[in-house]
Amino acid sequence: MNDVTKAAAATTDWALDRDADGIAWLVFDKAGASTNTLSAGALEALRGILGELAASPPKGLVIRSGKDSGFIAGADIEEFERVKTVEDALAIVRRGWDVFNELAAAPYPALALVRGFCLGGGLELALACRYRVVVDEPSTRLGLPEVMLGIVPAWGGMRRLPKLIGAPAALDLLLTGRTVDARRAKRLGLADENVPARIMMNTARGVILASPPRRQAPFPLSLTLNRLVRPLIAAQARKQVERRARREHYPAPYATLDIWVKHDGDALAVPASDPASIARLIQTPTAMNLIRVFRLQERLKSFGRESASPAKHVHVVGAGTMGGDIGAWCALRGLTVTLQDQNAKALKPAMQRAAKLFAERLKDPRRVRDALDRLVPDVAGDGVARADVVIEAIFENLEAKRSVFRTLEAKARPDALLATNTSSIPLEQIATALSDPTRLIGLHFFNPVARMMLVEIVVGAATRAELVPRAAALVRQIDKLPLPVKSAPGFLVNRILAPYLNEAMRCVDEGVPPETIDRAAVAFGMPMGPIELADTVGLDICQEVGRMLDPDATPPKKLAGLAADMPTLAELNRRYAQHVLTMVGGNKSEAARLLEVDRKTLSKLVEAQERGGESEAESTAVETTPSRPAGS
Ligand code: NAD
Repeated sequence: MNDVTKAAAATTDWALDRDADGIAWLVFDKAGASTNTLSAGALEALRGILGELAASPPKGLVIRSGKDSGFIAGADIEEFERVKTVEDALAIVRRGWDVFNELAAAPYPALALVRGFCLGGGLELALACRYRVVVDEPSTRLGLPEVMLGIVPAWGGMRRLPKLIGAPAALDLLLTGRTVDARRAKRLGLADENVPARIMMNTARGVILASPPRRQAPFPLSLTLNRLVRPLIAAQARKQVERRARREHYPAPYATLDIWVKHDGDALAVPASDPASIARLIQTPTAMNLIRVFRLQERLKSFGRESASPAKHVHVVGAGTMGGDIGAWCALRGLTVTLQDQNAKALKPAMQRAAKLFAERLKDPRRVRDALDRLVPDVAGDGVARADVVIEAIFENLEAKRSVFRTLEAKARPDALLATNTSSIPLEQIATALSDPTRLIGLHFFNPVARMMLVEIVVGAATRAELVPRAAALVRQIDKLPLPVKSAPGFLVNRILAPYLNEAMRCVDEGVPPETIDRAAVAFGMPMGPIELADTVGLDICQEVGRMLDPDATPPKKLAGLAADMPTLAELNRRYAQHVLTMVGGNKSEAARLLEVDRKTLSKLVEAQERGGESEAESTAVETTPSRPAGS
């Protein structure tokens, strides 16, 4: 900006300039921090600047970030952790509420220029501005994630967001903590303009100079804000919240609804005795624990920071449940992926699952097509020689893995990261297959890959230390959380999970009904009971994990019995075919149609079942799912 004249360098966090058009440009660049957060100091300084501007009003005000990392990440979470009394909590709420009200009441138009993340208090600041211009980049995300910390957006978000985009969309964001990208923000009416970075400054200037009327929820949506309609909308939303969590475990979304319905989003107006009050919320173990979880996640993220250049190409060997989904996830996150399996047929289910994932997550057909282009089937394994990272995810068998790594080491670039997804084989046993065993590291993803955030980075006895930050950086690059662990049985997660499942199954042996155990766990707040979880993971796998952790222990009796009697998938197919045939009164054509097989296959299945099972051609069976490995 050549035509800018310096007006005031307000504080170390904020810098204020005025240009020749009389527009004030306020840049937030929090001193000594990589990310902008709205600490008490930053808010006080902002209040001072607003006072200065009130004394000599500009033509308009543009607020933007001076950081490459994004706009504003939200309030300063460390200040929440220091809260000791209700008064401390109310002081935090009052500070942001008052400053943003002052900004919203300014006589000149204010505009938030949002590039990168704009979350929590950051979005509340943007909502207090008359206009919002967002930059059309994948890193631009807007949202109010307070609910995920067990608190509520009390700096005006609960009031201004519904007024701007209507109650249904606003409650969706408020109650789930979900974020939206720049395009969706524009479609929702949350942003006035969505533009490429190169024209963002000119657009901001243009909007201020044109000064169009402030956006509001359009007519039909504005009805959802009516005092009489609000309780009905809230009752609908409450039903959805109830499906996810009970109030005693997770009070924040319920409090959000109460504060919106009864107090138009003003948390300070809630009496202290009300369960929706800040006084009550801040004292719940839920809020304290969720804030702790947030801090732990931040710590995991920091493991991936100091890395060299980002990876561009990942090669995955083994396109089963895990390898297929790891490959798809990496492609979704922008990496080129070559996916190898024994033949084209084995790759097909993985490619189909990937197409579904891309369609669900990316929506835009062009972006879906680009992601599909990045995921390349590669039976010959040609991608190994070009890859920055090679991940092995073939079935859980030591000799097979050793043989794969011998080939991989010979083909891979000397600087490529070589990783295994094993869940139970000690890294040291696989590594000796390599002429340089220091090259091997574990990248232990969890199932289902698209939903599980954690990836254990398994460090073997010989693993070179410098590989750990590289592996962590890759995990961050694909938006997961890296957790470095020693190569010890069960690593970390299964070591914690297994005793819990074991104890539950021993209760069953002692005569407690499985349903009672699961009900107790769900009432405690678990999303699923331990018995149902064991059943979902697979009883055979549970038994294997138990053996791996303690080879000398006697497995729970019931588990051992069920695991031993478990039918094979082929047997299940036979039983199912027989069952369907019985259900349709012996009509073979109808049974074959329902099973989507030809009559010959059906006959073979039924005959084998009548013979008592053995040896019929699995080759003709209804397609079976791949067998599961030991460990999860
Ligand atoms: P899977 O049986 O579903 O898939 C294994 C795939 O590897 C198959 O498609 C098979 O054709 C392919 N394969 C076998 N040998 C090959 C070779 N030489 N070259 C190329 N492809 C080959 O197995 P999975 O469940 O995906 O497990 C894979 C690995 O991930 C195992 O080490 C397992 O312990 C680990 N793991 C599994 C889970 C889980 O829940 N399934 C979770 C975490 C880790």
